[in-house]
Amino acid sequence: MSDTGAVPEPPSDFIRDIVAADIASGHTPQIVTRFPPEPNGYLHLGHAKSICLNFGIALENQGRCNLRFDDTNPTKEDTHFVDSITEDIRWLIGGWADDRLSLQTPGAKPVPQNAEGREDFFAAPASAEPRAPFFASNYFDQYYFFAERLIVKGLAFVCDLSAEEAEAYRGTPTEPGRNSPFRDRSVEENLDLFRRMRAGEFPDGARTLRAKIDMASPNIWLRDPLLYRIRHVAHHQTGNDWCIYPLYDFAHCLGDYLEGITHSLCTIEFEVHRPLYDWILQSLDLPRTLPRQFEFAPLNLAYTLFSKRRVLKLVAEKAVSGWDDPRLPTLAGLRRRGIPAAAIRKFAYHIGITKFESLIEAAVFEGTVRDELNATAQRRLGVLHPLKLVLTNLAEDEVYESEAPNHPKDESQGTRPVRLTREVYIEQDDFAEVPPPKFRRLKPGGSVRLKYGCIITYEDVVKDADGNLVEVHATADLTTRRGQPNADQKVKGTIHWVSAVDAVDAEVRLYDRLFTVAEPGATEDFMSVLNPGSLKTVSAKLEPSLRNAPAEAVFQFERLGYFTPDSQDNKADGLVFNRTITLRDTWAK
Ligand code: ATP
Ligand code: MG
Repeated sequence: MSDTGAVPEPPSDFIRDIVAADIASGHTPQIVTRFPPEPNGYLHLGHAKSICLNFGIALENQGRCNLRFDDTNPTKEDTHFVDSITEDIRWLIGGWADDRLSLQTPGAKPVPQNAEGREDFFAAPASAEPRAPFFASNYFDQYYFFAERLIVKGLAFVCDLSAEEAEAYRGTPTEPGRNSPFRDRSVEENLDLFRRMRAGEFPDGARTLRAKIDMASPNIWLRDPLLYRIRHVAHHQTGNDWCIYPLYDFAHCLGDYLEGITHSLCTIEFEVHRPLYDWILQSLDLPRTLPRQFEFAPLNLAYTLFSKRRVLKLVAEKAVSGWDDPRLPTLAGLRRRGIPAAAIRKFAYHIGITKFESLIEAAVFEGTVRDELNATAQRRLGVLHPLKLVLTNLAEDEVYESEAPNHPKDESQGTRPVRLTREVYIEQDDFAEVPPPKFRRLKPGGSVRLKYGCIITYEDVVKDADGNLVEVHATADLTTRRGQPNADQKVKGTIHWVSAVDAVDAEVRLYDRLFTVAEPGATEDFMSVLNPGSLKTVSAKLEPSLRNAPAEAVFQFERLGYFTPDSQDNKADGLVFNRTITLRDTWAK
């Protein structure tokens, strides 16, 4: 299935209004955004909201969006996550592929280091060339330079308080903090100590670099926040070059500045960091237009949870099979489940951008997925719970072939042959010996149509010694086949089936919501609200064309739902399909 690439009509929201005003006023004629994941886990649907916002705004305005790995905390990060995140973003917005995405040059060397001519980069224009991906660690030299500049200006100091002591000095939201006893060190002493921190003279935690702002500020983030800490650990990008690492707040605003970001869009928990973002940039007398940060509400989706820490627990305790388990809201899991990237992008646009945090109903996401798949997925026949049906008036070698449309509304998707034979499989619950009222499927004395086949009429059943149903016998009326005289004859029910001769066996994994409650993340007790029925496996019979289904193709198995070949567990000797989603919302009732 191809990913249809059009960027949707831009919705209207407060961030796009700001962007439009900044273009109109000439403040930022060229829009540059960024998406800054930390390479310490997999991307999830919440990240997709941010990715679609940042890349979407860039595309809508002929701007640029940088993928920048926010890799300032080497103890928790790994190149494995750099690769998976890059792949996930490529998949998600590949359909929008465009020169302006920083993703266009995979593996290209990122922004050049500028170790020598330090003053160069300081005044140089922001890198205009999109190179991909970017890493905060590309700018360690620059960050260090900026830190020294703050020291020289008397705006940063080296502090010897331990983490616990610093915590005690910080105060509380209602009480002001106290100045560190090291706050009044001279510029010379601070510079000397900071250089020795960088040179590796002190152990982890012995000293920090802190901004000198205001220990009495009502905003805790302005109470002389940490800028650098000592960590004698190798970094996945810079190896052993550094033993001091900048903190997020220091690195982020400066990374934005160095890349010429105009609008730095993040989730609302960063609102309280914004005064610090602005303070750092404004304290450095930077020559170019400064980036500005804007905050929007994160995505919360019912019946699932996003937090890396919690998903990690689900993986570690084997509640799911891994980070790409199709029940998880990770992009890797959604992709393996068969959710189209285009559906995720449409969802991200549809839910909109506001400042107010809310819980989006699962049905909103699922509805978008169904709409997308209904429009794009080819139709196939498959039987999940097979029951043998023998058409007694057909000989063993009799075969009636007909062409079944691959898509009812899109002729360009073509047709495929479907073969009616003496023995076929139907769904167990499409037959009832003792039918409930209004049962429109096969029952004693009744007739139904086999889709793309003909009308059949019940004859009798065969049971084993214990009285279990083994097979159902019926007579086929071949004159009701397409193109035959009685093709238009009507019966109350139509059921799906596959020829027993042609059918291929497959393991089909039926997924459902992972949790039984709408807000599993509301407490730490989320392991106790797992849905025990979130995965059921059945041995299905599928029409033979599904044997060679391409990876990532999603099919509608008629009357059942949407299904995709599993990307991990398909082997030559056995097919595995995942159910992407049912045809209707089974939770609505
Ligand atoms: P988690 O909370 O799952 O551990 P994170 O926020 O720490 O994730 P980052 O890699 O720091 O993960 O996130 C990268 C970007 O994605 C940030 O700009 C962040 O604001 C944004 N983001 C994270 N979660 C969401 C969400 N639920 N909705 C929208 N944007 C999000
Ligand atoms: Mg984060």
